[in-house]
Amino acid sequence: MKRIYDMVILGGGPGGYTAALYAARAGLDVLVLEKLSAGGQMALTSQVDNYPGFPEGVDGFELGMRFQEQAQRFGAVTEYAEVRSMELGAEPKVLHTSGGDFYARTVVLAMGAGARKLGLPDEDRLTGRGVNYCAHCDGMFYRGKTVALVGGGNSAAAEALYLSRIAKKVILIHRRDTLRATKLYHEQLMQLPNLEFRWNSAVTELAGHDRLSGVKVKNLISGAEEELPVDGLFVSIGRQPATELVTGQLELDNGYIRADESTKTSIPGVYAVGDIRTKALRQILTAAADGANAAHEAELYLTAG
Ligand SMILES: Cc1cc2nc3c(=O)[nH]c(=O)nc-3n(C[C@H](O)[C@H](O)[C@H](O)COP(=O)(O)OP(=O)(O)OC[C@H]3O[C@@H](n4cnc5c(N)ncnc54)[C@H](O)[C@@H]3O)c2cc1C
Repeated sequence: MKRIYDMVILGGGPGGYTAALYAARAGLDVLVLEKLSAGGQMALTSQVDNYPGFPEGVDGFELGMRFQEQAQRFGAVTEYAEVRSMELGAEPKVLHTSGGDFYARTVVLAMGAGARKLGLPDEDRLTGRGVNYCAHCDGMFYRGKTVALVGGGNSAAAEALYLSRIAKKVILIHRRDTLRATKLYHEQLMQLPNLEFRWNSAVTELAGHDRLSGVKVKNLISGAEEELPVDGLFVSIGRQPATELVTGQLELDNGYIRADESTKTSIPGVYAVGDIRTKALRQILTAAADGANAAHEAELYLTAG
Protein backbone atom coordinates (compact mmCIF):
# COMPACT_ATOMS: atom_id res chain seq x y z
CA MET A 1 0.00 0.00 0.00
CA LYS A 2 1.37 3.41 -0.87
CA ARG A 3 2.17 5.79 1.97
CA ILE A 4 0.58 9.22 1.70
CA TYR A 5 2.36 11.96 3.67
CA ASP A 6 0.43 14.90 5.10
CA MET A 7 3.17 17.10 3.70
CA VAL A 8 6.06 16.57 1.31
CA ILE A 9 8.55 19.43 1.15
CA LEU A 10 10.68 19.85 -1.92
CA GLY A 11 14.00 21.34 -0.83
CA GLY A 12 15.99 21.31 2.40
CA GLY A 13 16.98 24.99 2.70
CA PRO A 14 15.80 27.31 5.48
CA GLY A 15 12.31 27.61 3.94
CA GLY A 16 11.85 23.86 3.61
CA TYR A 17 13.16 22.92 7.04
CA THR A 18 11.14 25.62 8.82
CA ALA A 19 7.98 24.32 7.15
CA ALA A 20 9.07 20.83 8.27
CA LEU A 21 9.67 21.99 11.84
CA TYR A 22 6.30 23.74 12.19
CA ALA A 23 4.34 20.99 10.45
CA ALA A 24 6.01 18.10 12.30
CA ARG A 25 5.63 19.92 15.61
CA ALA A 26 1.92 20.30 14.81
CA GLY A 27 1.71 16.53 14.44
CA LEU A 28 1.76 16.24 10.64
CA ASP A 29 3.51 13.37 8.89
CA VAL A 30 6.32 15.22 7.06
CA LEU A 31 8.90 14.24 4.46
CA VAL A 32 11.63 16.53 3.10
CA LEU A 33 13.11 15.68 -0.32
CA GLU A 34 16.59 17.12 -0.84
CA LYS A 35 18.90 16.41 -3.77
CA LEU A 36 22.18 17.57 -2.15
CA SER A 37 22.56 18.40 1.53
CA ALA A 38 20.70 20.30 4.24
CA GLY A 39 20.93 24.07 4.26
CA GLY A 40 20.50 25.02 0.61
CA GLN A 41 22.26 28.19 -0.46
CA MET A 42 23.26 29.26 3.02
CA ALA A 43 25.51 26.21 3.24
CA LEU A 44 27.70 27.97 0.66
CA THR A 45 28.78 30.73 3.01
CA SER A 46 31.02 30.43 6.05
CA GLN A 47 29.65 33.53 7.75
CA VAL A 48 26.00 34.44 8.25
CA ASP A 49 25.82 37.66 10.24
CA ASN A 50 22.19 38.63 9.91
CA TYR A 51 20.29 35.62 11.21
CA PRO A 52 19.06 36.61 14.68
CA GLY A 53 20.20 34.64 17.71
CA PHE A 54 23.86 34.37 16.68
CA PRO A 55 25.56 37.57 17.88
CA GLU A 56 28.97 36.40 16.63
CA GLY A 57 27.57 35.17 13.29
CA VAL A 58 27.31 31.52 12.31
CA ASP A 59 28.73 29.21 9.64
CA GLY A 60 26.01 28.71 7.00
CA PHE A 61 26.60 24.97 6.71
CA GLU A 62 26.32 24.55 10.47
CA LEU A 63 23.13 26.62 10.52
CA GLY A 64 21.68 24.35 7.83
CA MET A 65 22.47 21.25 9.89
CA ARG A 66 20.80 22.86 12.89
CA PHE A 67 17.65 23.62 10.89
CA GLN A 68 17.52 19.96 9.85
CA GLU A 69 18.16 18.59 13.36
CA GLN A 70 15.46 20.79 14.85
CA ALA A 71 12.87 19.53 12.35
CA GLN A 72 14.03 15.92 12.88
CA ARG A 73 13.53 16.29 16.61
CA PHE A 74 9.77 16.50 15.94
CA GLY A 75 9.74 13.61 13.49
CA ALA A 76 10.36 15.19 10.06
CA VAL A 77 12.20 12.71 7.84
CA THR A 78 14.64 13.58 5.03
CA GLU A 79 15.06 11.50 1.87
CA TYR A 80 18.03 12.40 -0.32
CA ALA A 81 16.53 12.30 -3.78
CA GLU A 82 16.11 14.64 -6.72
CA VAL A 83 12.54 15.48 -7.68
CA ARG A 84 12.26 15.10 -11.46
CA SER A 85 8.60 15.82 -12.08
CA MET A 86 5.39 16.40 -10.15
CA GLU A 87 1.66 15.99 -10.50
CA LEU A 88 0.53 18.83 -8.29
CA GLY A 89 -3.11 18.82 -9.38
CA ALA A 90 -3.58 15.09 -8.64
CA GLU A 91 -5.15 13.72 -5.46
CA PRO A 92 -2.95 12.70 -3.73
CA LYS A 93 -0.18 14.81 -5.26
CA VAL A 94 2.68 12.78 -6.76
CA LEU A 95 6.41 13.54 -6.74
CA HIS A 96 8.53 11.46 -9.10
CA THR A 97 12.11 11.36 -7.83
CA SER A 98 15.45 9.65 -8.39
CA GLY A 99 14.52 7.53 -5.36
CA GLY A 100 11.01 6.53 -6.49
CA ASP A 101 7.55 8.08 -6.23
CA PHE A 102 6.21 9.88 -3.16
CA TYR A 103 2.59 10.84 -2.41
CA ALA A 104 1.35 13.84 -0.48
CA ARG A 105 -1.83 15.61 0.62
CA THR A 106 0.04 18.93 0.62
CA VAL A 107 3.27 19.98 -1.07
CA VAL A 108 5.61 22.78 -0.03
CA LEU A 109 7.83 24.02 -2.85
CA ALA A 110 11.13 25.22 -1.40
CA MET A 111 13.56 24.64 -4.28
CA GLY A 112 15.14 28.07 -3.84
CA ALA A 113 17.47 29.42 -6.45
CA GLY A 114 20.62 28.50 -8.34
CA ALA A 115 23.38 30.51 -9.94
CA ARG A 116 22.53 32.68 -12.93
CA LYS A 117 24.69 31.77 -15.91
CA LEU A 118 26.40 34.00 -18.47
CA GLY A 119 24.62 32.22 -21.31
CA LEU A 120 27.78 31.67 -23.38
CA PRO A 121 27.96 28.74 -25.85
CA ASP A 122 30.70 26.73 -24.08
CA GLU A 123 29.60 27.50 -20.55
CA ASP A 124 27.90 24.21 -19.72
CA ARG A 125 30.71 22.17 -21.29
CA LEU A 126 33.37 23.96 -19.22
CA THR A 127 31.39 24.08 -15.97
CA GLY A 128 33.47 22.28 -13.34
CA ARG A 129 36.40 22.46 -15.78
CA GLY A 130 37.48 25.96 -14.98
CA VAL A 131 34.05 27.63 -14.94
CA ASN A 132 32.60 27.93 -11.43
CA TYR A 133 29.66 29.57 -9.67
CA CYS A 134 30.71 29.46 -6.02
CA ALA A 135 34.05 30.81 -4.81
CA HIS A 136 33.61 29.41 -1.32
CA CYS A 137 33.00 25.92 -2.76
CA ASP A 138 35.63 25.80 -5.52
CA GLY A 139 38.08 28.61 -4.78
CA MET A 140 40.54 26.27 -3.09
CA PHE A 141 41.28 24.59 -6.45
CA TYR A 142 42.89 27.83 -7.64
CA ARG A 143 45.57 28.33 -5.00
CA GLY A 144 48.43 30.35 -6.52
CA LYS A 145 46.60 30.62 -9.88
CA THR A 146 45.00 33.43 -11.87
CA VAL A 147 41.22 33.68 -11.91
CA ALA A 148 38.63 36.02 -13.37
CA LEU A 149 35.41 36.88 -11.54
CA VAL A 150 32.32 38.32 -13.20
CA GLY A 151 29.92 40.45 -11.14
CA GLY A 152 29.60 43.64 -9.16
CA GLY A 153 27.15 43.09 -6.31
CA ASN A 154 27.72 42.16 -2.67
CA SER A 155 28.12 38.45 -3.41
CA ALA A 156 30.71 39.14 -6.12
CA ALA A 157 32.60 41.50 -3.82
CA ALA A 158 32.63 38.90 -1.02
CA GLU A 159 33.84 36.29 -3.49
CA ALA A 160 36.59 38.61 -4.80
CA LEU A 161 37.83 39.13 -1.24
CA TYR A 162 37.78 35.40 -0.59
CA LEU A 163 39.55 34.51 -3.86
CA SER A 164 42.21 37.18 -3.33
CA ARG A 165 43.36 35.24 -0.27
CA ILE A 166 43.84 32.05 -2.32
CA ALA A 167 44.67 32.98 -5.90
CA LYS A 168 47.80 34.67 -7.19
CA LYS A 169 45.73 37.19 -9.12
CA VAL A 170 42.01 38.00 -9.37
CA ILE A 171 40.59 39.98 -12.29
CA LEU A 172 37.17 41.42 -11.53
CA ILE A 173 35.08 42.01 -14.66
CA HIS A 174 32.02 44.24 -14.28
CA ARG A 175 29.55 45.69 -16.78
CA ARG A 176 29.47 49.12 -15.11
CA ASP A 177 32.09 51.64 -14.03
CA THR A 178 31.43 51.11 -10.34
CA LEU A 179 30.41 48.21 -8.11
CA ARG A 180 26.85 47.81 -6.83
CA ALA A 181 28.31 46.32 -3.63
CA THR A 182 28.17 48.31 -0.38
CA LYS A 183 30.85 50.91 0.43
CA LEU A 184 32.42 48.65 3.03
CA TYR A 185 33.39 46.21 0.25
CA HIS A 186 34.72 48.98 -2.04
CA GLU A 187 37.21 50.07 0.57
CA GLN A 188 38.46 46.56 1.23
CA LEU A 189 38.72 45.63 -2.45
CA MET A 190 40.61 48.78 -3.44
CA GLN A 191 43.38 47.85 -1.01
CA LEU A 192 44.04 44.39 -2.42
CA PRO A 193 47.41 44.21 -4.20
CA ASN A 194 46.44 41.17 -6.30
CA LEU A 195 43.05 42.42 -7.59
CA GLU A 196 42.71 44.01 -11.06
CA PHE A 197 39.52 45.53 -12.46
CA ARG A 198 38.05 45.51 -15.93
CA TRP A 199 35.27 48.11 -15.73
CA ASN A 200 32.49 48.49 -18.35
CA SER A 201 33.37 45.02 -19.58
CA ALA A 202 31.78 41.66 -20.27
CA VAL A 203 33.05 38.14 -21.01
CA THR A 204 32.08 37.32 -24.59
CA GLU A 205 33.86 34.01 -25.18
CA LEU A 206 35.30 31.11 -23.22
CA ALA A 207 38.45 29.41 -24.55
CA GLY A 208 39.61 25.85 -23.90
CA HIS A 209 38.92 22.29 -25.00
CA ASP A 210 39.10 19.98 -21.98
CA ARG A 211 39.50 22.87 -19.53
CA LEU A 212 39.09 26.62 -19.55
CA SER A 213 42.29 28.26 -20.72
CA GLY A 214 41.17 31.87 -21.02
CA VAL A 215 38.33 34.32 -21.56
CA LYS A 216 37.68 37.01 -24.15
CA VAL A 217 36.64 40.29 -22.56
CA LYS A 218 34.98 43.15 -24.42
CA ASN A 219 34.99 46.75 -23.28
CA LEU A 220 31.34 47.75 -23.69
CA ILE A 221 32.18 51.41 -24.32
CA SER A 222 35.17 51.27 -26.67
CA GLY A 223 34.33 47.86 -28.17
CA ALA A 224 37.97 46.78 -27.67
CA GLU A 225 38.49 43.08 -27.07
CA GLU A 226 41.17 41.44 -24.96
CA GLU A 227 42.09 37.80 -24.36
CA LEU A 228 42.89 37.00 -20.77
CA PRO A 229 44.65 33.72 -20.05
CA VAL A 230 43.10 32.51 -16.76
CA ASP A 231 43.01 29.20 -14.91
CA GLY A 232 39.49 29.72 -13.66
CA LEU A 233 36.39 31.84 -14.09
CA PHE A 234 33.93 32.55 -11.29
CA VAL A 235 30.48 33.81 -12.25
CA SER A 236 28.65 35.80 -9.58
CA ILE A 237 25.84 37.63 -11.36
CA GLY A 238 22.90 36.69 -9.19
CA ARG A 239 20.55 33.82 -8.62
CA GLN A 240 17.76 32.33 -10.69
CA PRO A 241 14.65 30.63 -9.22
CA ALA A 242 14.53 26.83 -9.67
CA THR A 243 11.06 26.80 -11.19
CA GLU A 244 11.60 24.46 -14.19
CA LEU A 245 9.60 21.70 -12.48
CA VAL A 246 6.47 23.79 -12.04
CA THR A 247 6.43 25.69 -15.33
CA GLY A 248 3.06 25.04 -16.94
CA GLN A 249 1.52 23.85 -13.65
CA LEU A 250 1.61 27.00 -11.53
CA GLU A 251 1.25 30.72 -12.15
CA LEU A 252 4.65 32.36 -12.41
CA ASP A 253 5.58 36.02 -12.28
CA ASN A 254 8.95 36.96 -13.83
CA GLY A 255 10.06 33.36 -13.33
CA TYR A 256 9.05 33.23 -9.65
CA ILE A 257 6.06 31.30 -8.31
CA ARG A 258 3.26 33.76 -7.71
CA ALA A 259 2.41 33.60 -4.00
CA ASP A 260 1.93 36.19 -1.27
CA GLU A 261 2.83 35.94 2.41
CA SER A 262 0.28 33.14 2.86
CA THR A 263 2.56 31.14 0.47
CA LYS A 264 -0.57 29.73 -1.26
CA THR A 265 -0.07 29.06 -4.97
CA SER A 266 -2.63 28.75 -7.76
CA ILE A 267 -3.19 25.05 -6.81
CA PRO A 268 -4.94 24.29 -3.48
CA GLY A 269 -2.69 22.44 -1.04
CA VAL A 270 0.49 23.60 -2.79
CA TYR A 271 2.64 26.27 -1.11
CA ALA A 272 5.73 28.15 -2.27
CA VAL A 273 8.29 29.35 0.26
CA GLY A 274 11.58 31.21 0.25
CA ASP A 275 13.56 32.42 -2.74
CA ILE A 276 11.29 30.68 -5.22
CA ARG A 277 8.25 32.89 -4.64
CA THR A 278 7.46 36.50 -5.54
CA LYS A 279 8.73 38.71 -2.72
CA ALA A 280 10.90 41.76 -2.07
CA LEU A 281 13.66 40.37 0.14
CA ARG A 282 15.21 36.92 -0.37
CA GLN A 283 17.06 35.96 2.78
CA ILE A 284 17.34 33.11 5.30
CA LEU A 285 15.02 34.86 7.72
CA THR A 286 12.31 35.57 5.15
CA ALA A 287 12.53 31.99 3.80
CA ALA A 288 12.12 30.67 7.35
CA ALA A 289 9.13 32.96 7.93
CA ASP A 290 7.52 31.61 4.76
CA GLY A 291 8.07 28.06 5.99
CA ALA A 292 6.13 28.80 9.18
CA ASN A 293 3.28 30.36 7.20
CA ALA A 294 3.12 27.43 4.77
CA ALA A 295 2.84 24.91 7.60
CA HIS A 296 0.07 26.97 9.17
CA GLU A 297 -1.84 27.22 5.88
CA ALA A 298 -1.37 23.50 5.18
CA GLU A 299 -2.77 22.62 8.61
CA LEU A 300 -5.87 24.73 7.91
CA TYR A 301 -6.23 23.08 4.48
CA LEU A 302 -5.90 19.54 5.89
CA THR A 303 -8.36 20.25 8.71
CA ALA A 304 -10.91 21.75 6.31
CA GLY A 305 -10.55 18.86 3.85
C1 LIG B 1 26.82 32.53 -1.15
C2 LIG B 1 25.53 32.96 -0.49
C3 LIG B 1 25.56 33.64 0.71
C4 LIG B 1 24.38 34.03 1.34
N1 LIG B 1 24.46 34.69 2.53
C5 LIG B 1 23.32 35.04 3.19
C6 LIG B 1 23.39 35.68 4.47
O1 LIG B 1 24.45 35.94 5.02
N2 LIG B 1 22.19 35.97 5.09
C7 LIG B 1 20.98 35.71 4.52
O2 LIG B 1 19.95 35.96 5.15
N3 LIG B 1 20.90 35.11 3.30
C8 LIG B 1 22.04 34.78 2.63
N4 LIG B 1 21.96 34.19 1.39
C9 LIG B 1 20.64 33.96 0.79
C10 LIG B 1 19.96 32.77 1.45
O3 LIG B 1 20.88 31.69 1.50
C11 LIG B 1 18.70 32.38 0.68
O4 LIG B 1 17.82 33.48 0.66
C12 LIG B 1 18.01 31.20 1.33
O5 LIG B 1 18.88 30.08 1.43
C13 LIG B 1 16.77 30.78 0.54
O6 LIG B 1 16.26 29.65 1.16
P1 LIG B 1 15.24 28.66 0.42
O7 LIG B 1 14.78 27.72 1.48
O8 LIG B 1 14.24 29.43 -0.33
O9 LIG B 1 16.07 27.88 -0.69
P2 LIG B 1 17.56 27.36 -0.86
O10 LIG B 1 18.42 27.77 0.26
O11 LIG B 1 17.96 27.74 -2.23
O12 LIG B 1 17.38 25.77 -0.77
C14 LIG B 1 16.73 25.06 -1.79
C15 LIG B 1 17.05 23.59 -1.64
O13 LIG B 1 16.24 22.84 -2.54
C16 LIG B 1 17.02 21.81 -3.11
N5 LIG B 1 16.42 21.45 -4.40
C17 LIG B 1 16.22 22.27 -5.47
N6 LIG B 1 15.66 21.58 -6.49
C18 LIG B 1 15.49 20.32 -6.04
C19 LIG B 1 14.97 19.12 -6.64
N7 LIG B 1 14.50 19.11 -7.89
N8 LIG B 1 14.96 17.98 -5.90
C20 LIG B 1 15.42 17.98 -4.61
N9 LIG B 1 15.95 19.07 -4.01
C21 LIG B 1 15.98 20.22 -4.71
C22 LIG B 1 18.40 22.43 -3.26
O14 LIG B 1 19.41 21.43 -3.32
C23 LIG B 1 18.51 23.27 -1.98
O15 LIG B 1 19.09 22.56 -0.91
C24 LIG B 1 23.13 33.76 0.74
C25 LIG B 1 23.08 33.08 -0.49
C26 LIG B 1 24.28 32.68 -1.11
C27 LIG B 1 24.22 31.95 -2.42
